[in-house]
Amino acid sequence: MSLRPAPRLRPGLDRRAVFHAPPAPRPARPGAPAPGERHVVVVGGGIAGMTSALALAERGVRVTLLERTDRLGGRVRSWPVTLADGSTSHMGRGFHAFFRQYYNLRAVLRRADPALERLRPLADYPLVRAGGGADSFAGIPRTPPAPPCPAPDGMIAGAEGSALEAFRAGQAEEQECLFYVAQSRARDRLILYAPTEKSNGHNRPLSPFLDRLGTNLTRRSVVPARPLPTAAEAQGIELIVDGRLQFGAAQIALYESCPRRFFYTHVLQVGGRRTATAFMHLHEAVRAVVEGVITSDCPITERDLEDSTDAALAGQGLADHGYRAEFRDLALAMLRFLLANRAEAVAEAPVALSLNFGGEEIIVRPDEVLVRPDGVRAVRRIRTGHRRSAESKDVGAAALMLAVQQAFPGAVAELVHLSDGETHVLALSDRELKGRKDKLAKFLGDIRAGRFPAEVSSRTCPNCPAFFICGQTPDGPLQKKFA
Ligand SMILES: Cc1cc2nc3c(=O)[nH]c(=O)nc-3n(C[C@H](O)[C@H](O)[C@H](O)COP(=O)(O)OP(=O)(O)OC[C@H]3O[C@@H](n4cnc5c(N)ncnc54)[C@H](O)[C@@H]3O)c2cc1C
Ligand code: SF4
Repeated sequence: MSLRPAPRLRPGLDRRAVFHAPPAPRPARPGAPAPGERHVVVVGGGIAGMTSALALAERGVRVTLLERTDRLGGRVRSWPVTLADGSTSHMGRGFHAFFRQYYNLRAVLRRADPALERLRPLADYPLVRAGGGADSFAGIPRTPPAPPCPAPDGMIAGAEGSALEAFRAGQAEEQECLFYVAQSRARDRLILYAPTEKSNGHNRPLSPFLDRLGTNLTRRSVVPARPLPTAAEAQGIELIVDGRLQFGAAQIALYESCPRRFFYTHVLQVGGRRTATAFMHLHEAVRAVVEGVITSDCPITERDLEDSTDAALAGQGLADHGYRAEFRDLALAMLRFLLANRAEAVAEAPVALSLNFGGEEIIVRPDEVLVRPDGVRAVRRIRTGHRRSAESKDVGAAALMLAVQQAFPGAVAELVHLSDGETHVLALSDRELKGRKDKLAKFLGDIRAGRFPAEVSSRTCPNCPAFFICGQTPDGPLQKKFA
């Protein structure tokens, strides 16, 4: 026998809710449903209420739909209005986009509009913020970009090939699964839309599984009826440059990754600042010691290195940080690599190198110049962080190589990454170097012409300091002096 009291019936999780017993049956009123006949009252004539009423009515249920306003539709309703000039229009509660995957809504609309002719297809659904920024549904990548840090090869159980190949195979499998889900919902036909061209004009191949459908698949090319107007931020800026253009190699490399970001950072100079983390302070401290090492005329002992690292960490406010000991170890590991890497070489004072492009100038500032015991001169760029895969091939690297070839024939250009403990000799082929040189000239021409299109990327934009201001700029000329 249980001594516990019987639980009180509660309708839901709300402790204050009270359960009301249904009213006792009353004698039938005139017009009331006959015994066995079902009568349902649906409250609210929005999409949900109307769809419920429709589904019930189609199943033989008597339905009464109650709507408190004088018009059906709820938040998607619209009503005719007469404008000040006497013309008529429709006022709505807000712009509505019904996406193609709204299968149920489309099925409901088909009851009144079998070919869905009242829906207007649009190539995009731009969202424009009050401050001028815009989001686009058209820019969402159809093929997800490869992960910046793929799993190490061999760590994905059951996968064949490299981690990147496993990622691509997973993506292809997902596409095929999506196709079968769509197929299972199709009543008598399935229409697949696939772009055949990428935004850069290159061909975009169709998924290979489509070939397996053989003659069941009829292919048709569709030309968009309405091309999208150029986005406001893609339109040129009236830039009046006083004198010649002059940029550093790193600045022009930023133009390559996103011309719009270059515009905010180096033309408007409103790039913004990120909140500095302890790790960023650690890198600043290492940079300070690296500079001291490069400019020192005397050999650096281990004791010197430790003392200057301690001073630099303290200078960055890390003296009392909880991870000070770990930061110190990290900093010393980077710096010891640098010392070992330049041992036995003779250092020369680094000088700024200039590249001329029809009167415009790119300045390359190497961090150090070393002459190795074998007589080879190495002109080096030293970074405290890790190497990005694109870094040895971007226009910044090409500018370093071109400047080195011009100033020190026979010398090598090196990228040093202290976090990796690695040194890379830049090795762009003649063809690659010519391509990058043409690009540098084109970028300078584009900057002078005021072309700063946004390179929107779901991966890089959220980390961009200009994210919240990226968008349209006010009309009118912008006057600037760079050199
Ligand atoms: C500006 C705006 C833009 C939107 N854009 C999109 C979009 O692009 N894509 C998208 O998918 N969705 C969009 N939505 C959301 C979409 O409009 C709603 O999700 C949808 O219309 C909700 O339908 P509903 O039937 O659930 O509710 P509602 O449309 O709110 O309907 C409820 C109805 O019940 C009635 N009612 C309430 N109480 C009572 C009562 N006591 N007695 C009788 N009647 C009552 C109300 O008058 C109303 O007609 C947008 C909404 C807004 C406001
Ligand atoms: S938010 Fe994106 S598109 Fe805009 S400037 Fe930054 S990186 Fe470029």
